[in-house]
Amino acid sequence: MNTEEHAMNYYFYIENYSLFFEKEERFFVYNTYNGKWADCPASSELRTLFTPFLEGINYAVFLSDEAITAYQLWPFIEAVREGFSGDLISAGDATMAPFLFPSLLDFRLEKRKLDKKERELGQEVYSNLKEISFFLHPRIVPENGLFLPEQIFYSKEIVPVAEGWQQVYLPFLHQLTINWDGIIHIWCNCCDEKMWSSVCEVFAPIPAFKIVHTAVESMPPSLEGLLNKDTFSYEVYVTDDSEEECLNKWLQLQSETDIELLFQWLISSEKEWENASDWMERNQIEHVNLLPYYNGENRFFFEEHIYVKEKDLLFEIINKKDIFARKMFNTNYFGKLFLCPDGQLYAHPADDSLGKISEVSLPEMIHQELSEGRTWLSIRDQEPCASCRYQWICPSPSDLERALDRPNLCHLKK
Ligand code: SF4
Repeated sequence: MNTEEHAMNYYFYIENYSLFFEKEERFFVYNTYNGKWADCPASSELRTLFTPFLEGINYAVFLSDEAITAYQLWPFIEAVREGFSGDLISAGDATMAPFLFPSLLDFRLEKRKLDKKERELGQEVYSNLKEISFFLHPRIVPENGLFLPEQIFYSKEIVPVAEGWQQVYLPFLHQLTINWDGIIHIWCNCCDEKMWSSVCEVFAPIPAFKIVHTAVESMPPSLEGLLNKDTFSYEVYVTDDSEEECLNKWLQLQSETDIELLFQWLISSEKEWENASDWMERNQIEHVNLLPYYNGENRFFFEEHIYVKEKDLLFEIINKKDIFARKMFNTNYFGKLFLCPDGQLYAHPADDSLGKISEVSLPEMIHQELSEGRTWLSIRDQEPCASCRYQWICPSPSDLERALDRPNLCHLKK
């Protein structure tokens, strides 16, 4: 047997942590460990050759030297090898590729998403529910735009707490005491001492972890009245108009009690961004999340500073698990519900209600969102994202896209 002949046949394989896909009339290999890309034109001949990759049947194909030369595949193969995304190895006499487990991102798995068993009603449906937000204020849709939770902290006029929220929420909370270990969010703009004690009375008995979202101007609970720090944490909303004294009060409380505290700083302009960054640097505070806020007039700020550029996407490394999740469901929204004091439950506070908690059971509403909801399953499957190579590399659609009424937040495609 002639060794030269052996060198003419190869197996070309893709590591199963790499993703092979076709977009924009090109084939791409994306390495989910190191973020390296390789690509080549998607001709019909190559489509036939790479069918096992595309259909997730096998992550190895047989390639002859002739085919590699005819389809000008050497640069592509080199890029795949250099990116540690796959390899080309001699196949000797063999003419069939061995079987290599395809990536878990294969479409057969995707089709099975949320299969029948998972959609059945009953206790199992609770496993899809991860977080519930309880608003203590009525849901007020602003004139221009949609209702987003953080708006209650941006508005100059304080929205009063809704009367009777305790009576609406208490029966619902009893359903959550059994077998549910998600997170409860409590949204209250203006917590005074009376409010803190009501919050404590209603929510403390629930074993779930609780996050209180409140304005920095809210009076922090005293040491004695502090909501049990083992099951409560605080997200405190700050705007450019907030008094530094209020921030300091919270910081002092944290130093005395070691509570879990995160400042959510709403930013609507470059100037506000600088002010927040200055404060963080001056005070050496790290637990601050700068939250871009669309106020209806600052679209330019988003275009300049928030929209993603291609180099940002190439810089980031997205692992296989995250890509897989983004193909299946919206990773920002999945498993989250929002409840208003009128008893209406939402998959997203800007959407239509799923029903009233006194009239429709919680499992039924979760089931409804899993079966036909627009929120939990809203993924990048619409144009221009559907035909973009970064379709599953980009994060799931978010509130900002909704607020700005755009399908994406990037400079790549309009
Ligand atoms: S947001 Fe959409 S269009 Fe923009 S890069 Fe991501 S996938 Fe592509």
